[in-house]
Amino acid sequence: MFARFFKNWPLRQQIILVMGCTILAVGLSAAEFVRFNENRAFERNFRDQTQKLVSMLSATSLDAILSEDRPVLDTTIKQLVDNDSDVEAVYIYNENNKILTQWKKSEIIDRSLCLDFSHDVLLEGESFGRIDVTWNVERQQQEIRAYAIKIYLYAAGISLILALIVVGLINNLVVAPIGLIHNHLLLLQANKASGELDVVAARELMDLGSSVNELGNILELRKQKELELEEASRAKSEFLANMSHELRTPMNGVLGMLSLLKGTSLDPEQIEQVKIATSSGRSLLTLINDILDFSKVEAGKLEFETIDFNIEEVVEGCSIALSEQANSKQLELLCHIDGDVKQNVKGDPTRLRQVLTNLMGNAVKFTTHGEVKLTVKELSHGEAGSRLLFTVSDTGVGIKQSALKTVFQSFAQADGSTTRKYGGTGLGLAISRRLIEGMGGKIGVTSNLGEGSDFWFELTLPVSGMTLTECAQQHKVSARNILLVENSDSASDVIRTLLAELSLNTTTVGSGSEALEAVRKASTDNTLPDIILFSAQLSDMPGEVFARCIDADPEFDSVKLVPMTYVTEQVPELYPHKNPRISAQITKPIKRSELGQILESAIEGKFDEVVVEDAKLASRRKAYANIRILVIEDNAVNQEVALGMLEKIGFSADVADNGQEGLDRLEQETFDLVLMDCQMPVLDGYAATRVLRENEKEAGNQACRLPVIALTANAMTGDAEKCLSAGMDDYLSKPFEEHALEEKIVFWLSTRLSELQGEGEAGEDSLDEAA
Ligand code: ADP
Repeated sequence: MFARFFKNWPLRQQIILVMGCTILAVGLSAAEFVRFNENRAFERNFRDQTQKLVSMLSATSLDAILSEDRPVLDTTIKQLVDNDSDVEAVYIYNENNKILTQWKKSEIIDRSLCLDFSHDVLLEGESFGRIDVTWNVERQQQEIRAYAIKIYLYAAGISLILALIVVGLINNLVVAPIGLIHNHLLLLQANKASGELDVVAARELMDLGSSVNELGNILELRKQKELELEEASRAKSEFLANMSHELRTPMNGVLGMLSLLKGTSLDPEQIEQVKIATSSGRSLLTLINDILDFSKVEAGKLEFETIDFNIEEVVEGCSIALSEQANSKQLELLCHIDGDVKQNVKGDPTRLRQVLTNLMGNAVKFTTHGEVKLTVKELSHGEAGSRLLFTVSDTGVGIKQSALKTVFQSFAQADGSTTRKYGGTGLGLAISRRLIEGMGGKIGVTSNLGEGSDFWFELTLPVSGMTLTECAQQHKVSARNILLVENSDSASDVIRTLLAELSLNTTTVGSGSEALEAVRKASTDNTLPDIILFSAQLSDMPGEVFARCIDADPEFDSVKLVPMTYVTEQVPELYPHKNPRISAQITKPIKRSELGQILESAIEGKFDEVVVEDAKLASRRKAYANIRILVIEDNAVNQEVALGMLEKIGFSADVADNGQEGLDRLEQETFDLVLMDCQMPVLDGYAATRVLRENEKEAGNQACRLPVIALTANAMTGDAEKCLSAGMDDYLSKPFEEHALEEKIVFWLSTRLSELQGEGEAGEDSLDEAA
């Protein structure tokens, strides 16, 4: 209780209070002891003296008592009273106890202030009378009191002096040094301590002071180490940026050349070899990217965006990106986002894509038969947004229980033979974990060896707008009845859910023959489906055979056929423009946003529009030939790659070896767009762009600003900003794919291309008219 009471008091006050009270209590006790003893001694002396006086009086009064001579007795009493003013009363008795004479002071006094003394008058041991004397002790008691006060004051004074001395000593030896040490620790904490702490105090505190000095030295060393580490980390980042540049530049050459090679006339064996080389190159690139990402994670340099994006586009985009790989292994790739998830979410789409691609890439890699499924569910909805659960399930090799805990650690693989069998570095999941945790989520896995794995992660993302079902229902679908032919149960479950959202009646069958039977029965019942949605890979017959069977029967003429193929599936007979019975085509994994639209176009026979779209594309490609692009790049291989790709796409292109040469060319000739390498001798891409923008400003030419797309081999954070702040309009990371290059150019030259297209079409029309 005391401890709690004193808890917040300063040490100095606690010591003053405790020491002061103790010393005062000891001083006062000592004073009381002295006073008590003195009092007793005084009383004893007084009694002895008065007793002696009374016995002398009785001796001198013996004759007068015997003779009962009152005048003599009165004289004796008077002598006594005159000698001692404190005598209050005297009584003299004879042997019969009768008062012979008496004397009393006139005023009445307090009996408590009196002491009575009595003495028998003896002769040879026989009593012949008695003398009683009453003494007033008030004066003596006052004297004793004054004496006691003196003692107390004296004790209090000494206690005070002692307390001051002790408190002063404790202050100097304990309290002040503790304050000094505390201040020094505060300075250490604030990184402001300079010099050593000099403590003169009790030994324990001097030891504490030495320990604090040692701690200061350790902190100083640590500070130096941190500075060194920071410097090393900066150097590491720079090294990584350079290494990444050095590795990506040749990779651009390798992959670019392979892509060009693919477009030349090759025999089947060579095509296979180019395919293997391309896939190895891509694996190497993934590895470089993984290591780069991992270094960024380790250096704590991961940065996250918070932007609005369409969750369906990101999730479906990831599944489509992996569909080629899945399809080449005959795996069913499924993707389903629950309809009650909102379409617009806020977060980092790039990082989300990276994690999903990694998990799905692993699922495809470690699965030899069966399916890979990506699902997204809303777990809860709160103020911070929707808690979404993303799950990537596969029917692959699975992971043994003992390895489940370690797979998220860097360079950890579930099985020692994994690298040999499947390749990989063991970095993907470690990076994914950091990314998900960086976005405030959590990631985990459940798996059974030989049965497959479920990798999942949860993220809370702010959401807005309509749910995916509401978005899908915005498209009108005139069809009512659908026959779904799909041999995979999981796939038909997903597709049926999407069709149900569109309020379509769906009958599902698992094979071509069952489907034919169902259609025949429906024909006799007059309940033919409006559309047959069938998988291109049926278990009992190829999709095109099924299509031909339906086509052969005129009774089924009203039925529209829509095949579901993978993007990479080469079944030309099933493409709408190759087979008139096919009214539309849908690619797997099926996008919810497209399903309604495609089914409607199948009913309305809008396939013609697709052909028109194709024609438009063809006319835009024709316009490419009039576009002049200047590639400013110092690396000969990369020059060749860029020129080759541009040529293949259909643009006309020229090359300059460095920034200065590029600027000279731009002064002499007209170009529509510049592809600018960043690191070059003589004048680098950043400086060249700055000069170009300055020149445009001086010439008052800012309105028709020349688009400059950076070709950067660095993938470090800040590269994009560096390019944009130098005046470039966009950037493309090396190695880049042909379609990405085309997309960027078309984006920046859309107006110019439309003009050229317009001119082209007008020219063709006038030619037609002339003919
Ligand atoms: P990598 O795939 O490059 O080896 P990851 O970090 O992506 O590295 O994966 C670590 C390990 O986890 C893999 O080597 C593999 O043993 C195991 N693993 C990951 N995903 C799966 C999966 N879907 N099925 C079975 N094992 C998996």
